[in-house]
Amino acid sequence: MNILRSMLILSMAFPLVATAQQTKSNSPRHDQVIVIRGNRIESVSNASSSKMPADAKVIDLSHSTVLPGLIDSHTHIFLQGEDPAQGGYDANILKYPLSFRAARATVSARRALEQGFTTLRDVETEGAGYGDVGIKQAIEGGYIPGPRLFVSTRAISTTGGYPLEGYAPELEMPKGVQVIDGPVEARKAAREQLDHGADWIKVYMTHRSWIGKNGELVSQPTLTVEELKAVVDEAHGWTKKVACHAYNGIGLQRALDGGCDSIEHGLEITDAQIAQMVKQGTWYCPTLAVYYTDWGPADTPAGQRDRKRAAVHIQSFQKAMKAGVKIVFGTDIGGIPWTEPIAQEFSRMVEFGMSPTDAIKSASSRAAEMLDMEGQIGVIAPGAYADIIAVSGDPVRDIKVLENVQFVMKDGKVFTTEGK
Ligand SMILES: [Zn+2]
Repeated sequence: MNILRSMLILSMAFPLVATAQQTKSNSPRHDQVIVIRGNRIESVSNASSSKMPADAKVIDLSHSTVLPGLIDSHTHIFLQGEDPAQGGYDANILKYPLSFRAARATVSARRALEQGFTTLRDVETEGAGYGDVGIKQAIEGGYIPGPRLFVSTRAISTTGGYPLEGYAPELEMPKGVQVIDGPVEARKAAREQLDHGADWIKVYMTHRSWIGKNGELVSQPTLTVEELKAVVDEAHGWTKKVACHAYNGIGLQRALDGGCDSIEHGLEITDAQIAQMVKQGTWYCPTLAVYYTDWGPADTPAGQRDRKRAAVHIQSFQKAMKAGVKIVFGTDIGGIPWTEPIAQEFSRMVEFGMSPTDAIKSASSRAAEMLDMEGQIGVIAPGAYADIIAVSGDPVRDIKVLENVQFVMKDGKVFTTEGK
Protein backbone atom coordinates (compact mmCIF):
# COMPACT_ATOMS: atom_id res chain seq x y z
CA MET A 1 0.00 0.00 0.00
CA ASN A 2 1.19 3.50 -0.85
CA ILE A 3 0.00 6.71 0.69
CA LEU A 4 0.50 10.06 -1.00
CA ARG A 5 0.29 13.20 1.09
CA SER A 6 -0.43 16.24 -1.01
CA MET A 7 -0.43 19.95 -0.36
CA LEU A 8 -3.04 20.62 -3.02
CA ILE A 9 -4.97 18.20 -5.13
CA LEU A 10 -6.66 18.88 -8.44
CA SER A 11 -8.63 15.74 -8.95
CA MET A 12 -10.30 16.98 -12.17
CA ALA A 13 -13.41 14.91 -11.74
CA PHE A 14 -15.68 15.89 -14.55
CA PRO A 15 -19.34 15.87 -13.56
CA LEU A 16 -19.93 12.62 -15.40
CA VAL A 17 -20.42 10.60 -12.29
CA ALA A 18 -22.66 12.84 -10.27
CA THR A 19 -21.77 11.69 -6.80
CA ALA A 20 -21.39 14.40 -4.22
CA GLN A 21 -17.75 13.58 -3.76
CA GLN A 22 -16.84 13.79 -7.43
CA THR A 23 -18.71 17.01 -8.05
CA LYS A 24 -16.98 18.63 -5.11
CA SER A 25 -13.54 17.58 -6.26
CA ASN A 26 -13.66 19.83 -9.30
CA SER A 27 -12.13 22.56 -7.16
CA PRO A 28 -8.70 22.23 -5.58
CA ARG A 29 -8.53 20.68 -2.13
CA HIS A 30 -5.76 21.16 0.40
CA ASP A 31 -3.93 18.66 2.60
CA GLN A 32 -5.24 15.44 1.17
CA VAL A 33 -4.22 11.85 1.67
CA ILE A 34 -4.53 9.44 -1.25
CA VAL A 35 -4.46 5.76 -0.36
CA ILE A 36 -3.32 3.42 -3.11
CA ARG A 37 -3.74 -0.32 -2.99
CA GLY A 38 -2.18 -2.25 -5.85
CA ASN A 39 -2.74 -0.27 -9.02
CA ARG A 40 -5.90 1.52 -7.88
CA ILE A 41 -6.81 4.50 -5.74
CA GLU A 42 -8.62 3.24 -2.66
CA SER A 43 -9.55 6.52 -1.00
CA VAL A 44 -8.99 10.28 -0.97
CA SER A 45 -9.51 12.13 2.28
CA ASN A 46 -8.47 15.05 4.46
CA ALA A 47 -5.04 14.56 6.04
CA SER A 48 -6.35 15.66 9.43
CA SER A 49 -9.06 13.02 9.59
CA SER A 50 -7.38 10.06 7.91
CA LYS A 51 -5.82 7.19 9.77
CA MET A 52 -2.53 5.95 8.36
CA PRO A 53 -2.39 2.16 8.17
CA ALA A 54 0.77 0.89 9.87
CA ASP A 55 1.99 -1.11 6.88
CA ALA A 56 1.72 1.78 4.41
CA LYS A 57 4.62 3.43 2.64
CA VAL A 58 4.11 7.18 2.82
CA ILE A 59 5.21 9.38 -0.08
CA ASP A 60 5.45 12.97 1.01
CA LEU A 61 4.18 15.37 -1.64
CA SER A 62 3.05 17.88 0.95
CA HIS A 63 4.86 20.71 -0.87
CA SER A 64 3.37 19.84 -4.26
CA THR A 65 0.22 20.04 -6.31
CA VAL A 66 -1.05 16.59 -7.18
CA LEU A 67 -2.99 15.89 -10.37
CA PRO A 68 -4.16 12.87 -12.33
CA GLY A 69 -1.66 11.52 -14.86
CA LEU A 70 -1.98 13.48 -18.10
CA ILE A 71 -3.38 12.25 -21.41
CA ASP A 72 -2.05 13.29 -24.84
CA SER A 73 -4.69 12.30 -27.40
CA HIS A 74 -2.57 12.81 -30.51
CA THR A 75 0.95 11.36 -30.62
CA HIS A 76 3.21 9.40 -32.96
CA ILE A 77 5.73 7.30 -31.04
CA PHE A 78 7.10 5.99 -34.34
CA LEU A 79 8.00 9.46 -35.64
CA GLN A 80 10.96 11.50 -34.44
CA GLY A 81 10.32 14.94 -35.94
CA GLU A 82 12.22 13.85 -39.03
CA ASP A 83 14.75 16.48 -40.00
CA PRO A 84 14.60 17.24 -43.76
CA ALA A 85 18.38 17.66 -43.70
CA GLN A 86 18.63 14.00 -42.69
CA GLY A 87 16.28 12.69 -45.35
CA GLY A 88 13.05 13.66 -43.58
CA TYR A 89 9.99 11.45 -43.43
CA ASP A 90 10.99 9.26 -46.38
CA ALA A 91 14.33 8.15 -44.92
CA ASN A 92 12.52 6.80 -41.88
CA ILE A 93 10.62 4.33 -44.07
CA LEU A 94 13.27 3.70 -46.73
CA LYS A 95 16.43 3.27 -44.69
CA TYR A 96 15.76 1.95 -41.22
CA PRO A 97 14.86 -1.55 -40.07
CA LEU A 98 11.61 -1.73 -38.13
CA SER A 99 13.59 -2.89 -35.09
CA PHE A 100 15.47 0.42 -35.12
CA ARG A 101 12.23 2.36 -35.31
CA ALA A 102 10.73 0.25 -32.53
CA ALA A 103 13.78 0.88 -30.35
CA ARG A 104 13.32 4.61 -30.83
CA ALA A 105 9.59 4.29 -30.11
CA THR A 106 10.45 2.86 -26.67
CA VAL A 107 12.42 6.06 -26.00
CA SER A 108 9.42 8.18 -27.11
CA ALA A 109 7.16 6.25 -24.75
CA ARG A 110 9.55 6.78 -21.85
CA ARG A 111 9.83 10.49 -22.67
CA ALA A 112 6.05 10.85 -22.42
CA LEU A 113 5.91 9.04 -19.09
CA GLU A 114 8.70 11.04 -17.50
CA GLN A 115 6.82 14.24 -18.43
CA GLY A 116 3.73 13.02 -16.59
CA PHE A 117 1.77 11.71 -19.59
CA THR A 118 0.53 8.37 -18.32
CA THR A 119 -1.82 7.76 -21.27
CA LEU A 120 -1.40 8.37 -25.01
CA ARG A 121 -3.73 7.92 -27.92
CA ASP A 122 -1.10 7.17 -30.55
CA VAL A 123 -2.59 7.89 -33.95
CA GLU A 124 -0.65 5.70 -36.37
CA THR A 125 2.78 4.23 -36.92
CA GLU A 126 3.71 5.95 -40.22
CA GLY A 127 4.80 2.88 -42.13
CA ALA A 128 5.82 0.83 -39.10
CA GLY A 129 2.82 -1.50 -39.46
CA TYR A 130 1.52 -2.90 -36.20
CA GLY A 131 4.60 -1.83 -34.23
CA ASP A 132 2.46 0.17 -31.79
CA VAL A 133 0.63 -3.00 -30.76
CA GLY A 134 3.99 -4.57 -29.87
CA ILE A 135 5.15 -1.53 -27.90
CA LYS A 136 1.85 -1.55 -26.01
CA GLN A 137 2.31 -5.24 -25.18
CA ALA A 138 5.87 -4.60 -23.96
CA ILE A 139 4.64 -1.79 -21.68
CA GLU A 140 1.74 -3.83 -20.34
CA GLY A 141 4.07 -6.79 -19.79
CA GLY A 142 6.36 -4.60 -17.70
CA TYR A 143 9.36 -5.01 -20.04
CA ILE A 144 9.71 -1.30 -20.75
CA PRO A 145 8.36 1.81 -19.01
CA GLY A 146 5.68 3.75 -20.84
CA PRO A 147 2.19 5.22 -20.74
CA ARG A 148 -1.07 3.37 -21.28
CA LEU A 149 -1.39 3.25 -25.04
CA PHE A 150 -4.49 3.46 -27.20
CA VAL A 151 -3.12 2.52 -30.61
CA SER A 152 -4.45 2.94 -34.13
CA THR A 153 -1.89 0.87 -36.11
CA ARG A 154 -1.52 1.64 -39.85
CA ALA A 155 -4.17 4.35 -40.51
CA ILE A 156 -6.13 4.67 -43.75
CA SER A 157 -5.98 7.02 -46.74
CA THR A 158 -6.55 6.80 -50.49
CA THR A 159 -4.45 6.64 -53.64
CA GLY A 160 -2.78 10.04 -53.90
CA GLY A 161 -3.49 10.64 -50.24
CA TYR A 162 -0.22 9.98 -48.40
CA PRO A 163 3.59 9.81 -48.72
CA LEU A 164 5.85 8.36 -49.93
CA GLU A 165 5.26 10.42 -53.03
CA GLY A 166 7.13 12.37 -55.68
CA TYR A 167 9.04 9.35 -57.02
CA ALA A 168 9.08 8.03 -60.60
CA PRO A 169 5.59 6.72 -61.45
CA GLU A 170 7.15 3.40 -62.50
CA LEU A 171 8.21 2.74 -58.91
CA GLU A 172 5.89 1.02 -56.46
CA MET A 173 6.68 3.01 -53.30
CA PRO A 174 5.75 1.96 -49.77
CA LYS A 175 3.18 4.22 -48.10
CA GLY A 176 2.97 5.59 -44.57
CA VAL A 177 -0.64 4.36 -44.36
CA GLN A 178 -2.84 1.56 -45.65
CA VAL A 179 -4.23 2.80 -48.98
CA ILE A 180 -7.84 2.00 -49.88
CA ASP A 181 -10.09 2.88 -52.82
CA GLY A 182 -13.77 2.13 -52.54
CA PRO A 183 -16.00 1.15 -49.58
CA VAL A 184 -15.15 -2.56 -49.86
CA GLU A 185 -11.42 -1.96 -49.47
CA ALA A 186 -12.11 0.61 -46.74
CA ARG A 187 -14.11 -1.87 -44.68
CA LYS A 188 -11.52 -4.59 -45.24
CA ALA A 189 -8.69 -2.34 -44.04
CA ALA A 190 -10.65 -1.44 -40.91
CA ARG A 191 -11.32 -5.13 -40.25
CA GLU A 192 -7.65 -6.02 -40.67
CA GLN A 193 -6.51 -3.24 -38.36
CA LEU A 194 -9.10 -4.07 -35.71
CA ASP A 195 -8.23 -7.75 -35.99
CA HIS A 196 -4.56 -6.98 -35.35
CA GLY A 197 -5.18 -4.87 -32.26
CA ALA A 198 -6.23 -1.34 -33.23
CA ASP A 199 -7.99 0.44 -30.34
CA TRP A 200 -8.91 3.31 -32.67
CA ILE A 201 -9.03 3.68 -36.44
CA LYS A 202 -7.22 6.71 -37.86
CA VAL A 203 -8.34 8.06 -41.23
CA TYR A 204 -6.80 10.85 -43.28
CA MET A 205 -9.69 12.89 -44.74
CA THR A 206 -7.45 15.63 -46.18
CA HIS A 207 -3.91 15.49 -47.52
CA ARG A 208 -2.08 18.32 -49.31
CA SER A 209 -2.96 21.93 -48.53
CA TRP A 210 -2.18 25.18 -50.33
CA ILE A 211 -3.37 28.76 -50.79
CA GLY A 212 -6.14 29.10 -53.41
CA LYS A 213 -6.60 31.94 -55.89
CA ASN A 214 -8.63 34.04 -53.47
CA GLY A 215 -6.10 33.64 -50.67
CA GLU A 216 -8.10 30.89 -48.99
CA LEU A 217 -6.77 27.66 -47.50
CA VAL A 218 -7.51 24.68 -49.76
CA SER A 219 -7.10 21.07 -48.68
CA GLN A 220 -7.24 18.08 -50.98
CA PRO A 221 -9.96 15.66 -49.82
CA THR A 222 -9.24 11.93 -49.74
CA LEU A 223 -11.91 9.38 -48.74
CA THR A 224 -15.49 9.78 -49.97
CA VAL A 225 -18.38 9.80 -47.51
CA GLU A 226 -19.24 6.22 -48.61
CA GLU A 227 -15.68 5.05 -47.96
CA LEU A 228 -15.57 6.67 -44.53
CA LYS A 229 -19.01 5.36 -43.62
CA ALA A 230 -17.79 1.81 -44.27
CA VAL A 231 -14.86 2.37 -41.87
CA VAL A 232 -17.01 4.02 -39.19
CA ASP A 233 -19.72 1.38 -39.44
CA GLU A 234 -17.15 -1.39 -39.04
CA ALA A 235 -15.30 0.30 -36.15
CA HIS A 236 -18.49 1.11 -34.27
CA GLY A 237 -19.57 -2.50 -34.60
CA TRP A 238 -16.44 -3.43 -32.67
CA THR A 239 -17.29 -0.61 -30.17
CA LYS A 240 -14.22 1.28 -31.39
CA LYS A 241 -13.97 4.87 -32.59
CA VAL A 242 -12.62 6.67 -35.65
CA ALA A 243 -10.24 9.65 -35.55
CA CYS A 244 -10.19 11.78 -38.69
CA HIS A 245 -7.29 13.97 -39.70
CA ALA A 246 -9.09 16.87 -41.42
CA TYR A 247 -7.81 20.39 -42.06
CA ASN A 248 -10.85 22.05 -43.63
CA GLY A 249 -13.19 22.22 -46.62
CA ILE A 250 -14.63 19.23 -48.45
CA GLY A 251 -12.59 16.66 -46.54
CA LEU A 252 -13.64 17.99 -43.14
CA GLN A 253 -17.29 18.07 -44.27
CA ARG A 254 -17.05 14.46 -45.47
CA ALA A 255 -15.49 13.49 -42.11
CA LEU A 256 -18.53 14.89 -40.28
CA ASP A 257 -21.07 13.50 -42.75
CA GLY A 258 -19.36 10.11 -42.53
CA GLY A 259 -19.84 10.05 -38.76
CA CYS A 260 -16.26 10.36 -37.51
CA ASP A 261 -15.76 10.47 -33.74
CA SER A 262 -12.91 12.98 -33.51
CA ILE A 263 -11.62 15.70 -35.80
CA GLU A 264 -7.83 15.95 -35.64
CA HIS A 265 -6.27 19.40 -36.26
CA GLY A 266 -9.48 20.99 -37.67
CA LEU A 267 -7.63 24.09 -38.81
CA GLU A 268 -10.62 25.83 -40.37
CA ILE A 269 -14.09 24.84 -39.20
CA THR A 270 -17.11 26.78 -40.43
CA ASP A 271 -19.93 27.82 -38.10
CA ALA A 272 -22.22 25.23 -39.70
CA GLN A 273 -19.59 22.53 -39.17
CA ILE A 274 -19.15 23.56 -35.54
CA ALA A 275 -22.91 23.27 -35.06
CA GLN A 276 -22.78 19.82 -36.66
CA MET A 277 -19.97 18.78 -34.29
CA VAL A 278 -22.00 19.90 -31.27
CA LYS A 279 -25.08 18.05 -32.55
CA GLN A 280 -23.17 14.85 -33.33
CA GLY A 281 -20.98 14.98 -30.20
CA THR A 282 -17.81 15.00 -32.30
CA TRP A 283 -14.57 15.48 -30.38
CA TYR A 284 -12.03 18.12 -31.44
CA CYS A 285 -8.30 17.55 -30.97
CA PRO A 286 -6.82 20.82 -32.29
CA THR A 287 -3.05 20.21 -31.83
CA LEU A 288 -2.37 23.96 -31.77
CA ALA A 289 1.28 24.40 -30.82
CA VAL A 290 2.69 22.43 -33.73
CA TYR A 291 1.18 24.91 -36.23
CA TYR A 292 2.70 27.96 -34.55
CA THR A 293 6.38 27.08 -34.93
CA ASP A 294 8.70 26.20 -37.75
CA TRP A 295 7.02 28.21 -40.54
CA GLY A 296 8.56 28.35 -44.00
CA PRO A 297 9.95 31.74 -45.16
CA ALA A 298 7.16 34.36 -45.59
CA ASP A 299 7.80 34.85 -49.31
CA THR A 300 7.39 31.17 -50.26
CA PRO A 301 4.15 29.27 -51.02
CA ALA A 302 4.85 26.94 -48.07
CA GLY A 303 5.48 29.90 -45.77
CA GLN A 304 2.25 31.62 -46.85
CA ARG A 305 0.32 28.39 -46.32
CA ASP A 306 1.85 27.97 -42.84
CA ARG A 307 0.81 31.51 -41.85
CA LYS A 308 -2.70 31.08 -43.24
CA ARG A 309 -3.13 27.80 -41.37
CA ALA A 310 -2.16 29.41 -38.07
CA ALA A 311 -4.43 32.42 -38.68
CA VAL A 312 -7.55 30.30 -39.24
CA HIS A 313 -6.70 27.72 -36.58
CA ILE A 314 -6.96 30.11 -33.65
CA GLN A 315 -10.39 31.28 -34.89
CA SER A 316 -11.66 27.70 -35.20
CA PHE A 317 -10.41 26.85 -31.71
CA GLN A 318 -12.08 29.89 -30.17
CA LYS A 319 -15.38 29.35 -32.00
CA ALA A 320 -15.41 25.68 -31.00
CA MET A 321 -14.72 26.54 -27.38
CA LYS A 322 -17.53 29.09 -27.32
CA ALA A 323 -19.99 26.68 -28.94
CA GLY A 324 -19.20 23.95 -26.41
CA VAL A 325 -17.47 21.49 -28.73
CA LYS A 326 -15.75 18.79 -26.66
CA ILE A 327 -12.03 19.60 -26.90
CA VAL A 328 -9.14 17.29 -25.99
CA PHE A 329 -5.45 18.02 -25.58
CA GLY A 330 -3.22 16.69 -28.37
CA THR A 331 0.23 17.62 -29.57
CA ASP A 332 1.14 15.65 -32.71
CA ILE A 333 4.48 15.04 -30.99
CA GLY A 334 6.63 12.85 -33.16
CA GLY A 335 5.69 15.22 -35.97
CA ILE A 336 7.91 17.49 -33.86
CA PRO A 337 10.90 15.98 -32.01
CA TRP A 338 10.23 14.17 -28.73
CA THR A 339 12.78 16.48 -27.10
CA GLU A 340 10.14 19.28 -27.20
CA PRO A 341 8.11 19.66 -23.97
CA ILE A 342 4.74 17.95 -24.52
CA ALA A 343 3.10 20.33 -22.06
CA GLN A 344 3.80 23.34 -24.29
CA GLU A 345 0.37 22.73 -25.83
CA PHE A 346 -1.21 23.83 -22.51
CA SER A 347 0.32 27.29 -22.89
CA ARG A 348 -1.14 27.69 -26.39
CA MET A 349 -4.59 26.60 -25.25
CA VAL A 350 -4.52 29.10 -22.41
CA GLU A 351 -3.01 31.84 -24.59
CA PHE A 352 -5.89 31.36 -27.04
CA GLY A 353 -8.48 31.75 -24.31
CA MET A 354 -9.11 28.41 -22.61
CA SER A 355 -9.12 28.50 -18.81
CA PRO A 356 -6.24 26.58 -17.19
CA THR A 357 -8.77 24.30 -15.49
CA ASP A 358 -10.41 23.41 -18.79
CA ALA A 359 -7.00 22.92 -20.42
CA ILE A 360 -6.05 20.45 -17.67
CA LYS A 361 -9.40 18.68 -18.05
CA SER A 362 -8.83 18.38 -21.79
CA ALA A 363 -5.75 16.33 -20.89
CA SER A 364 -7.44 14.35 -18.11
CA SER A 365 -11.15 13.74 -17.46
CA ARG A 366 -12.30 15.02 -20.90
CA ALA A 367 -9.83 12.79 -22.73
CA ALA A 368 -10.80 9.87 -20.51
CA GLU A 369 -14.40 10.34 -21.62
CA MET A 370 -13.38 10.26 -25.29
CA LEU A 371 -11.38 7.08 -24.62
CA ASP A 372 -14.37 5.47 -22.85
CA MET A 373 -12.28 5.38 -19.66
CA GLU A 374 -14.23 7.87 -17.54
CA GLY A 375 -13.66 7.31 -13.83
CA GLN A 376 -10.73 4.97 -14.65
CA ILE A 377 -8.08 7.46 -15.77
CA GLY A 378 -7.81 11.26 -15.77
CA VAL A 379 -9.21 11.56 -12.25
CA ILE A 380 -8.03 11.12 -8.69
CA ALA A 381 -10.97 9.30 -7.22
CA PRO A 382 -11.62 5.99 -5.48
CA GLY A 383 -11.58 3.11 -7.97
CA ALA A 384 -9.50 4.90 -10.61
CA TYR A 385 -6.10 3.63 -11.73
CA ALA A 386 -3.32 5.12 -9.62
CA ASP A 387 -1.93 7.34 -12.40
CA ILE A 388 -0.83 10.40 -10.47
CA ILE A 389 1.64 13.24 -10.98
CA ALA A 390 2.91 16.15 -8.90
CA VAL A 391 4.27 19.57 -9.73
CA SER A 392 5.51 22.40 -7.56
CA GLY A 393 3.31 25.46 -7.81
CA ASP A 394 -0.30 25.79 -8.86
CA PRO A 395 -1.01 25.08 -12.55
CA VAL A 396 -4.36 26.90 -12.31
CA ARG A 397 -2.39 30.09 -11.63
CA ASP A 398 0.54 29.29 -13.92
CA ILE A 399 -0.08 26.58 -16.52
CA LYS A 400 3.64 26.46 -17.33
CA VAL A 401 4.41 24.55 -14.13
CA LEU A 402 3.08 21.50 -15.99
CA GLU A 403 6.24 21.62 -18.10
CA ASN A 404 8.17 20.53 -15.04
CA VAL A 405 6.56 17.42 -13.60
CA GLN A 406 8.44 16.20 -10.54
CA PHE A 407 6.67 13.01 -9.59
CA VAL A 408 5.06 10.36 -11.75
CA MET A 409 3.15 7.29 -10.64
CA LYS A 410 1.56 5.00 -13.19
CA ASP A 411 -0.54 1.99 -12.28
CA GLY A 412 0.46 2.39 -8.61
CA LYS A 413 4.19 2.30 -9.36
CA VAL A 414 6.48 5.28 -8.97
CA PHE A 415 8.38 5.98 -12.18
CA THR A 416 12.01 6.82 -11.61
CA THR A 417 14.75 7.73 -14.03
CA GLU A 418 17.34 5.72 -12.09
CA GLY A 419 19.59 3.60 -14.26
CA LYS A 420 18.82 5.76 -17.28
ZN1 LIG B 1 -0.63 13.43 -36.35
